[in-house]
Amino acid sequence: DEPLLSVTKFEELNLSPNVLKGIYEMGFTTPSKIQAKALPLLLKTPPQNMIGQSQSGTGKTAAFVLTMLSRIDYNLKAPQALCLTPSRELARQIMVEVRKMGKYTPVITAEAIRESHVKASGKSRHEEFAEAQLIVGTPGTVYDLLKKKVIEKKHMKIFVLDEADNMLDQQGLGDQSIRIKNMMPRECQIVLFSATYSNDVRSFATRFAPNANQFSLKVEELSVKTIKQFYMDCKNDEHKFEVLDDLYTLLTIGQSIIFVQKRETADRIAKRMTDKGHKVINLHGGLSTAERDEVMDGFRKGSAKVLITTNVLSRGIDVLQVNLVINYDIPMDLSGRNPDFETYLHRIGRTGRFGRTGVSINFVHDAVSWEMVQAIQKHFQRDIVKVPTDDWDTVE
Ligand code: ADP
Ligand code: MG
Repeated sequence: DEPLLSVTKFEELNLSPNVLKGIYEMGFTTPSKIQAKALPLLLKTPPQNMIGQSQSGTGKTAAFVLTMLSRIDYNLKAPQALCLTPSRELARQIMVEVRKMGKYTPVITAEAIRESHVKASGKSRHEEFAEAQLIVGTPGTVYDLLKKKVIEKKHMKIFVLDEADNMLDQQGLGDQSIRIKNMMPRECQIVLFSATYSNDVRSFATRFAPNANQFSLKVEELSVKTIKQFYMDCKNDEHKFEVLDDLYTLLTIGQSIIFVQKRETADRIAKRMTDKGHKVINLHGGLSTAERDEVMDGFRKGSAKVLITTNVLSRGIDVLQVNLVINYDIPMDLSGRNPDFETYLHRIGRTGRFGRTGVSINFVHDAVSWEMVQAIQKHFQRDIVKVPTDDWDTVE
């Protein structure tokens, strides 16, 4: 079943002419299925909660951004719509979408992420957030600003968690997201979106967003069909680097993301790749906010083609030119013995956006990583096949 385009038209979705103008200018002609299914329910009066699920790259962002833009009373200059995301990079990306979709509305916006530089406007955070109608941010900063009453909560009409399962489940994020939700007015609409909800998270989500309309998918429907999944045999952990070096020497690759489990690994292989003459950039939570912004902006512009990163960027990031994702380390739980299925799906979902094709390659170097790839294959009921490396073997 084709998960993308719907037979419904944007004009049928009860959006304001200003908002329609913005989305047409972005080149959106037809709503995706999740947009066409979710928007009529999201825009109902009185508002109803929502727990939405659809595959990576199918346009969940527009579903909740268009709802936020539709809920705001533009005569009231106070916070009314709040969206939380697990990373500053995703918050900034969503804000770019908000500004495009809201280009012909008078919406006032503010990003609630750790500051990386002095604001060009010269406004204090108090001034900035007093008037902001739509806020996108990360839980730590948002919680801080709510507590200090920099963000006023009393007019909040809609509260969105993107990557909701991660926001409710991950240590640190979960507590803060719950505290923030508890600060919202009782009648505030709660909207959760993700590509994945483990069973535990889903039952918690139904309490977090009571009486929600729900869209869910079966596990075997979740992995995007246009992403080809491969594995590559490596002799041992050290040999993985040689394989990576060979790959980037032999192949012409558009843009790609290499995922590792630890910051130290990201730093180490970034340095070694650079020493080998590959142009790579590196982003993880140990960098300063200014460094993170610079790296991400370079990658979005395409001035850097190879991004090495950790799970901090596994979710939500939408760079259409990415056609290869490498799992240098298989995503795994803390024990190191079991694969992390959700993270796997989100990582490979950084390619194959909105119907595009993509390739993912998993590095296998021992019995444990082999078993994890087998388990992933079985879980999603999709083949992960060996990379055809006939000509590479002779290079070794
Ligand atoms: P998801 O959050 O479901 O993973 P996104 O919201 O990031 O997906 O959307 C994936 C890509 O598809 C983005 O580049 C977005 O601009 C594009 N997109 C979303 N909806 C449409 C649409 N109706 N028509 C064309 N492109 C769209
Ligand atoms: Mg998304």
